[in-house]
Amino acid sequence: MKEIIQQLPAKAREKNKEHRKFFSRLKKKPPKQLDYLMETLHEDEFGRTDCLQCANCCKTTGPLFTEKDIQRISKFLKMKPQQFIASYLRVDEEEDHVLQQLPCTFLDADNRCMIYEVRPKACREFPHTNRKKFQQISNLTLKNVAICPAAFNIVEELRRRVEGK
Ligand code: SF4
Ligand code: SF4
Repeated sequence: MKEIIQQLPAKAREKNKEHRKFFSRLKKKPPKQLDYLMETLHEDEFGRTDCLQCANCCKTTGPLFTEKDIQRISKFLKMKPQQFIASYLRVDEEEDHVLQQLPCTFLDADNRCMIYEVRPKACREFPHTNRKKFQQISNLTLKNVAICPAAFNIVEELRRRVEGK
């Protein structure tokens, strides 16, 4: 897995042009069964992916924390929301609350999330490959394929299924 993660940014760069063109065609004419297809591809890929061997998302790209996330996590940690924000978060250029540091403070040495039950919504949904109307988040996906080996494989499989490539 280590080697796969190391090679991923270069692989994603190499495919970037093809992926952008593919997403532009997908947006113009999404297949009728796209939501169903994404669900299947996502389940198949994550069925054979061990995120505990990877954790590249937690190491390189923190989530944004919504108001609800902050309330829920600070309660779990028995902290006041303001205290939680001051200890772990900062406000980014887009005015979102994000982590002060990466890898994520809540990732332990075994790649486990210490706040798994109450983790941010963005962590639960990453890499967003099983969401409806997948064609609408192409810019985000183009970034995620350089971070997440599963997302890269899902996009490649999607291209094969939709365009036979
Ligand atoms: S979601 Fe993707 S990047 Fe995150 S741990 Fe799983 S395979 Fe790795
Ligand atoms: S909160 Fe948990 S799942 Fe989210 S980035 Fe941190 S360690 Fe990973």
